[in-house]
Amino acid sequence: MVRVSYPYEAPVSQTLFDRAAAVTPGGVNSPVRAFRAVGGTPRFMVSGNGPYLTDADGREYVDLVCSWGPMILGHSHPEVIAAVQDAVSRGTSFGTPGEGEVALAEEIVARVEPVEQVRLVSSGTEATMSAIRLARGFTGRAKVVKFAGCYHGHVDALLAAAGSGLATFALPDTPGVTGAQAGDTIVLPYNDLDAVREAFRAHPGEIACVITEASPGNMGVVPPLPGFNQGLKDACAADGALYISDEVMTGFRTSRAGWYGVDGVAPDLMTFGKVMGGGFPAAAFGGRADVMGHLAPVGPVYQAGTLSGNPVATAAGLAQLRLLDDAAYTRLDAVSGQIRTLVTDALTKEGVVHTLQNASTMFSVFFKGEDVRNYEDAKTQESYRFNAFFHSMLAQGVYLPPSSFESWFVSTAHDDRAVQRIADAVPAAARAAAEATAA
Ligand SMILES: *Cc1c(COP(=O)(O)O)cnc(C)c1O
Repeated sequence: MVRVSYPYEAPVSQTLFDRAAAVTPGGVNSPVRAFRAVGGTPRFMVSGNGPYLTDADGREYVDLVCSWGPMILGHSHPEVIAAVQDAVSRGTSFGTPGEGEVALAEEIVARVEPVEQVRLVSSGTEATMSAIRLARGFTGRAKVVKFAGCYHGHVDALLAAAGSGLATFALPDTPGVTGAQAGDTIVLPYNDLDAVREAFRAHPGEIACVITEASPGNMGVVPPLPGFNQGLKDACAADGALYISDEVMTGFRTSRAGWYGVDGVAPDLMTFGKVMGGGFPAAAFGGRADVMGHLAPVGPVYQAGTLSGNPVATAAGLAQLRLLDDAAYTRLDAVSGQIRTLVTDALTKEGVVHTLQNASTMFSVFFKGEDVRNYEDAKTQESYRFNAFFHSMLAQGVYLPPSSFESWFVSTAHDDRAVQRIADAVPAAARAAAEATAA
């Protein structure tokens, strides 16, 4: 166990958490929110405005989680809120096609060149689950290659050696996923092309697809080594398998065209979520038109959703994407760079061994000395130092992801005042990290 003291209280959040725990397992609807990795009382938020969140006890935080990525313009952006209010005023769900979903699909296709056609769904999990079904249906093959530490949502077949939540809880394997469901999944170390080539040699003509996070952010931020994604694409092409790039986290965040806009490696299929929903449940998968043409109703691979392409969600997503112009990405780069420098300078000053890694504007701190290239590397960090750092920042009004295996996220709303508040908080947090002991 890790010794962390809590010199501050959150009585209203604690009361809500107690109520929640009576009616919901662990008091939360997504495990990482429970603060199990870092300890303490999860903050129940009541409102968000720009770069700030306000909790039920009335305390304000600079938000470096941004709802795990979606809130790239900050909270309650007036133009996104106006688009939502306009959509809501016309009704909330029709179960028919509508123009909003066409416009959102057109925006995605226009931004991300390899996406010729796209299908809208309601969560990133649904997007990866559907993309894998499509890859299997298209190729007539069963096996799926994924990488340890990459998280693709809670899809049964992909919950082998997944990152963040599972890393945080150190669950060996999740019960409830049968051998049959995981039996066709091949889990390989990330950034290891030799392992990929060996898998294709061992299973020629059997692998339907390789799915990878375009640049992983669910074991902390671990970018692909130069040539890794291209190597995946080439290995897939040589064997007739599909290369699926999961851009649920990186999509429309790491550039206008997501990680594809950074490395230019064109996947056969891609998945999106988070930013494209503007804070609502909207996600997508898309890619080559000949592959997407295998989906119902034109093709035999079934896929559907009652709320897919929901008019309120698509209005929010479209409004957000339209605001994400070149100036927005320049702003994100600048603020991400400022915060990275503040954090690493403070930790260095206190003599705390660490490695700060970034993929474009996504970043995270590993409390260990060497570069982190895969999940095995990530697991050897001194997470107890992160926990001390986290609680010091929280006490000073900066909300970080409550786990050392998660990316930090910034928004265009993080202005000089918000950055100054982070600057004011990091020296004490770095000291807390330096003084932390694994108990
Ligand atoms: C968040 C995430 C998912 C799952 O998306 P949900 O909307 O939470 O189901 C899938 N893949 C990646 C890379 C993610 O970061």
